[in-house]
Amino acid sequence: MKIASIDSALYQVPLAVPLSDSTHGEIPSFELITVRIRDDQGLEGLGYTYTVGVAGLAIHVLIDRYLKPDLLGQDPGRIEHLWERMWWRLHYSGRGGTASFAISAIDIALWDLTGKRQGTPLWRLLGGSTPRVKVYAGGVDLHFSLDALKDQARRFLARGYGAIKMKVGRPRLSEDIARVRAIRELIGPDVPLMVDANQQWDRPTAQRMCRVFEQFNLVWIEEPLDAYDHEGHAALAVQFDTPIATGEMLTSAAEHGELIRHRAADYLMPDAPRVGGITPFLKIAAQAEHAGLMLGPHFAMELHVRLAAAYPTEPWVEHFDWLEPLFNERLEIKGGRMVVPTRPGLGLTLSEQSKAWTREIAEVGARP
Ligand code: MG
Repeated sequence: MKIASIDSALYQVPLAVPLSDSTHGEIPSFELITVRIRDDQGLEGLGYTYTVGVAGLAIHVLIDRYLKPDLLGQDPGRIEHLWERMWWRLHYSGRGGTASFAISAIDIALWDLTGKRQGTPLWRLLGGSTPRVKVYAGGVDLHFSLDALKDQARRFLARGYGAIKMKVGRPRLSEDIARVRAIRELIGPDVPLMVDANQQWDRPTAQRMCRVFEQFNLVWIEEPLDAYDHEGHAALAVQFDTPIATGEMLTSAAEHGELIRHRAADYLMPDAPRVGGITPFLKIAAQAEHAGLMLGPHFAMELHVRLAAAYPTEPWVEHFDWLEPLFNERLEIKGGRMVVPTRPGLGLTLSEQSKAWTREIAEVGARP
């Protein structure tokens, strides 16, 4: 069994409604970087990573020029071995960051290929804890008027989501408080609600806001502080009943290890397309379980629903519908939970529509 060919592509995906949060401002488009690995039997694995619009080209070059040539002819079933090989190939350019994004896309393709070869869905291949996963609607809505925010919440509930997340971090703290109060009153006391500050606050502000937010019975307060302020997050996690969630910005298992060591989160939010793929994600999840933490994987729900389904303590997976046009498959939400797809591997295919969004394509090796 050998890797016969690898192709990669960079897409720029426009968003029908521009997103906004307190850190990245307005986000009009996403970048998707895909990798397709074919073995000498003709089976194909698809992996990907993404950006919020910056550095996709650099990631694509890392994959195309520096990783792909070294993988041709290798056994695609030796994922740990290939992961180490890729890591040491790129580590001098930084142990994380764009190097991790590039490795992620290939690692995910290798896992998809392994699942397909064995005819087994990814979540079962990884241990198979539960066929349905708790799902919340991720609102990226900081710039929404209060009326638009309420309309969105009603739509989310009507669609069957089990919970709602909203952005905070408006210039005036009183606006954040009024908006969270309004949504809590709208959805009632029992619908799970999360808020996400996207690293917007300094320590005194986070302290004050976490105290005020205690009354709203939130599932969590996400990224109240800078992603690297582990001590600050740990202090909030100890002081307040409301759980603290963070980790989406980290790009390696080692960075997550530091976060866990500091006990900086109650909910850990690893993102497989950013941390180096499924291989390090599993190591992060194992550390989190050992430390008694809960998981809320960040973004990339079509992948994370499969990974969350392998984790024993019922993670929350967030769901957005704006990237749906990229793939032919749709995720099913029933009774507040996402149904874990049963196709072998990751089982995703790129849509016809995605072709219109292609910016670059590169291929090495020969198709079998
Ligand atoms: Mg977030």
